[in-house]
Amino acid sequence: MPPRFVLRVKSGSLQELLAEIRAKGGRPIQAFAPSHVIAVLPAGTQLDLGEISSQPDATSSSVTAHRTLATMESREAAGPEPTLSWDMPGKKPPMFHNDSPSACPAQASRSTAIRPAYKQLFDKIKSYCKKFSDKTKWSYKQKVSGRRTFRDGGTATGRYMVGRVAVALVIVGRQRGTDPNPPAEFLTTAERDAAATQISAGLGWLALEEPRARVEFVFDRTDIELAVVPSATTPDTFEDRESVWRDPALAKMGYPANAAGYARLAHDVRDNNGARWGFVIFVTRYPVHHFAYANAERLVVHYDNDGWGPSELDRVIAHQVCHIFGALDEYTSSGCTCTQRGGALHIENGNCRSCATDFVQCLMEANTFSVCDFTRRQIGWRSPLMASLGKALEAGSNADGRIEVFYIGIDDVLYHTWQLPRGNWIGEYHLGPSSPAKTKQFAVGRNEDGRIEVFYIGLDDVLYHNWQLVPNGKWIGENML
Ligand SMILES: [Zn+2]
Repeated sequence: MPPRFVLRVKSGSLQELLAEIRAKGGRPIQAFAPSHVIAVLPAGTQLDLGEISSQPDATSSSVTAHRTLATMESREAAGPEPTLSWDMPGKKPPMFHNDSPSACPAQASRSTAIRPAYKQLFDKIKSYCKKFSDKTKWSYKQKVSGRRTFRDGGTATGRYMVGRVAVALVIVGRQRGTDPNPPAEFLTTAERDAAATQISAGLGWLALEEPRARVEFVFDRTDIELAVVPSATTPDTFEDRESVWRDPALAKMGYPANAAGYARLAHDVRDNNGARWGFVIFVTRYPVHHFAYANAERLVVHYDNDGWGPSELDRVIAHQVCHIFGALDEYTSSGCTCTQRGGALHIENGNCRSCATDFVQCLMEANTFSVCDFTRRQIGWRSPLMASLGKALEAGSNADGRIEVFYIGIDDVLYHTWQLPRGNWIGEYHLGPSSPAKTKQFAVGRNEDGRIEVFYIGLDDVLYHNWQLVPNGKWIGENML
């Protein structure tokens, strides 16, 4: 892991500092509005707009930044821990959907406002929401997810986890009051800071997991204390429980109630921070229907985090944020199937525990810090959405004049990408069709009939070549020279 630093804005804005870090070859990972950043910096980097902060100052963004970095470093030093499936006996899994019937029409009308072209489709969903019970809606969703999913594909502010992502972190507790014993919904400053630290550490791990996606999380935190007293007669549904504290909290921030309020907040936090994406994390100690759930532009988590505890908020939140970007659950009791499709790219759920042929550990199945290939593609970690990273490249040209570029990625794999007939590029593919070839040096040639041929030295020092079978065509695969 390259060295990371906490930086403080010296002059200018947070956004300008983020731009300067990138321009000087660094990589921002997390930013804490209005003033602090955790970034990877090349040795000896001199910044004009920021300075390294070696000690936390009194501001909450500074405290959270320093504690987040310390949390991430100690976790990395401790190494991998045993993983626990989200549906292990005695614990509850964080959930994807808010199935409250009242949420259906609100969500559909909001989404159609954002994307008028989808109106017909959302009208259909709306009528399904009305027609079926919660249970039937689940199976309906699973049925349509085999073809095309709407709610599973993220929203206009959360489609691909690529680039800068702004997070409105809203921490909602109850006022302490004058009673010597604080109410059960009260959150101390230390608890609020601990939650913020856990959340940013969890998302910092996610940001580092795929360098090509260049994910930066910018946190815009709001602490709210409400006078609202929860009532024992509130029906135990997602929406009824949530609206008790969510709507007064949104009102304090100047936003309308319901899904319209947090959707607007997600758009604002995105736009105010120059981000591509935005969503809302509500942390609360008010009673909720389920300790952690996510859909559309927001996720909700109870501070106590049910059986997992506040010290595992990092994993629960990282899991839930993958849902925000369209990833599907993989633990058995979620009812996942390998043919359902998730994310804006409609990627199959091939690592679903109950049917995977080659199951690997994944954050969508367990509280582990690893992400399987299916989840990666569901959240948009796929070329050409992501940048390509390479260390050597050479361009060739096809018989019909289209350019084809070959390069060694930072993982030593030999990749190529080529122009399509209209001039745009297809994106990154390893030079196939066989399994990815690792190489330390390569050269591109062209045969008399226009077929490209690539020569390379493998990591095993053996000389290989691979050639197009016909001009502008497919490749034969790796052969020893
Ligand atoms: Zn889940």
